[in-house]
Amino acid sequence: PPARDTVPERQAVINLSAIAHNIAQLRSIAAPAKLMAVVKADAYGHGMIPVARTALAAGAHWLGTAHVAEALKLREAGIDAPVLAWLHTPSTDFAAAVSQGIDLGCSGWELEHIAAAARAEERPARIHLKIDTGLGRNGSSMAGWDALVSDAIAFQDEGLLRVVGVFSHLAVADEPHRPETDAQIQAFREAVAVAEDAGADLEVRHLANTPATLSRPDTHFDMVRTGLGIYGLSPFEDRTSAQLGLVPAMTLQTRVALCKDVPSGQGVSYGLNYVSGRPTTLGLIPLGYADGIPRIATGGPVRVNGVTYPVVGRIAMDQMVIDFGPDGREGFSAAEVPGSALGATAVLFGDGSGGGPLVEQWADAAGTVNYEVVTRISQRVPRTYV
Ligand code: PLP
Repeated sequence: PPARDTVPERQAVINLSAIAHNIAQLRSIAAPAKLMAVVKADAYGHGMIPVARTALAAGAHWLGTAHVAEALKLREAGIDAPVLAWLHTPSTDFAAAVSQGIDLGCSGWELEHIAAAARAEERPARIHLKIDTGLGRNGSSMAGWDALVSDAIAFQDEGLLRVVGVFSHLAVADEPHRPETDAQIQAFREAVAVAEDAGADLEVRHLANTPATLSRPDTHFDMVRTGLGIYGLSPFEDRTSAQLGLVPAMTLQTRVALCKDVPSGQGVSYGLNYVSGRPTTLGLIPLGYADGIPRIATGGPVRVNGVTYPVVGRIAMDQMVIDFGPDGREGFSAAEVPGSALGATAVLFGDGSGGGPLVEQWADAAGTVNYEVVTRISQRVPRTYV
């Protein structure tokens, strides 16, 4: 048999220089506000530790995670930058967070737990009070804000914690024309004033996510919390990464696993929903929903040897099929049937250079957003860092 080929079978190639570039771009837009790199959910699928290290080296001031468990992993990796974790349950290990110097978001009920952890650890906790200014999710209600602030200040006076931040999260910043953002900014300003009047010595007031950082300077305050943008993706329907000066950091690629000539009338994949209308050549792509490709995303683009082909038939657990001779489908080039593309690199999405496919095309095919496509690429796909 021929020698085994050492090219990776499938990989998500993470371009750390692109992440460094995106951090610099977002920093310059946000300055003088500081920048928090949001690295929750394994850095939106890009790999939390390498992304965190790159982001800090490129000038990010803070790291943000949803869970304390994620923040603890940063500490275990020896990362000692400021970290904020904001989504807790009564099972959260607040004591570990306090002992590791992790800042904690607090919407209300956590206060007692955090104070108890600080007492046990004999170390004051650093907290950021979170107000729900309209998203209707995490954060104290506006009606409960004054009481939360005064309870927190009472614990601060006891020496158990320090209120170092006030923050909130925006609901519609990706649609910059919507008026709700103005109302959220106004409510946020009022909440900050209440905390300061009560005796909070705030280091950071923060509200903006990526879309607000890019479109609303009046949301920047002392710090922006950017996730999507540091991965080089656009939060806007009508603006591409390139138009925002961002470079997509993840390229998802594999190798064509089989090329097969089939007659007219050949059905493809479970359900036989696709039937070739003429003799054609099919290519087998060894990625499927177990790798995080949405099953619904039939029609998604795959680039082989400089030509983009559509996925035809259902996406299965481990594999999907492309038709090397599409019937002039819109958006796809009619291609000459290649001799054999076996082993050729197949790119599902990348940075778009040379007209390559983009993650947004997969998001459209799946009826979702770019956030979800990259975040769901599963652990079965090795990450390679360049
Ligand atoms: N801040 C909070 C509280 C979040 O939950 C998130 C992510 O959902 C972000 C900031 C980052 O948002 P984006 O990825 O749009 O920058």
